[in-house]
Amino acid sequence: MKLIEICSWLDAEVPIAFQEGYDNSGLLAGDPDMEIRKAMIAFDVTESVVDEAVATECDMIISHHPLIFNPIKKLTGNNSTERTLIKVVKNGIAVYSCHTNLDIFGEGVSRKMAAKIGLHNVTVLSPLKGHLLKLVTYVPEEHIDSVRNAVFNAGAGTIGNYDMCSYNIEGTGSFRGNPDTNPFKGEKGEMHFEKEIRFETIMLAHLRNKVIKALVEAHPYEDVAYDIYRLENDYLQAGLGCVGELKKDVDEMQFLKNLSSIFKAKGIRYSKPIGKKIRKAAVCGGAGIGLLKEAIKSGADIFITADLKYHDFFNAENKILVADIGHFESEIFSGEILYELIIKKFPTFAVQFSQTNTNPINYL
Ligand SMILES: [Zn+2]
Repeated sequence: MKLIEICSWLDAEVPIAFQEGYDNSGLLAGDPDMEIRKAMIAFDVTESVVDEAVATECDMIISHHPLIFNPIKKLTGNNSTERTLIKVVKNGIAVYSCHTNLDIFGEGVSRKMAAKIGLHNVTVLSPLKGHLLKLVTYVPEEHIDSVRNAVFNAGAGTIGNYDMCSYNIEGTGSFRGNPDTNPFKGEKGEMHFEKEIRFETIMLAHLRNKVIKALVEAHPYEDVAYDIYRLENDYLQAGLGCVGELKKDVDEMQFLKNLSSIFKAKGIRYSKPIGKKIRKAAVCGGAGIGLLKEAIKSGADIFITADLKYHDFFNAENKILVADIGHFESEIFSGEILYELIIKKFPTFAVQFSQTNTNPINYL
């Protein structure tokens, strides 16, 4: 399979448009036309990971953390990023990273944490903002079915567990073509009234071009009238962190022990125990303490995340138990998400997990 094929699919499947502004996800190294025979999923891309890829004849590394995060002005091997980059290029290995978009998309890192903990009734803790658009267009009655289907097939019209969502109102449109036109109905130079359907639907902002292309191709008019509105609504199916419930109450200390075994976390740091059972848990893979307010507001008994500083533990203020299980540990299952998606789409594609432990933190 060509590198471009798997990258384009990944860019759409785990929408690259969802990544945070500071991030650098996507194809970071490699000729898009190169042939990929075997890929390796890794958490970080280090020199050891590249050595492992070479030894196991993988020509692509798919990582969670991007190999290149800050701009590189020299390539002299002065630091581990530069040396790793030189090594991937020398060995003809492609690198694709799927970082904050893997955190944010609907089946992402936090959702996986919730599944491993056994949470149900899971919802997003901080839903995605500014990604929803409303599309309104006007279609002659006899063409509404084909236009609607084309727009839906391009990805518009999905709300929660429902797809093909739209609103349709009958009305009358008018138009007059100039001498250069070839009107679908009526005569050029004469005003024409046409029975039309005002068709409204919703779409994610990153699908805009695809949806509009499908609309224009399916619509019978030479010049298609459509309106796009940016919505204030949050996109509830994606975002950072999530919150859900356990099937039964668990004692605080027992729950922390369970976390230690699920995430193989050797050094969980936690705030002052509150003395109440854990029923509802909020989670955010990686550095998620910025969501503490949302976690408290959600009514969660515990917030599980990573990278907490000393003062962050004070901010729990006895309202919630806060647990730092470690950055690496909190995202330990991120590779599984990528693996499952790839195997589902390309069942015969050779993909393996890296066996290199890249956690830079050691515990006594
Ligand atoms: Zn991370």
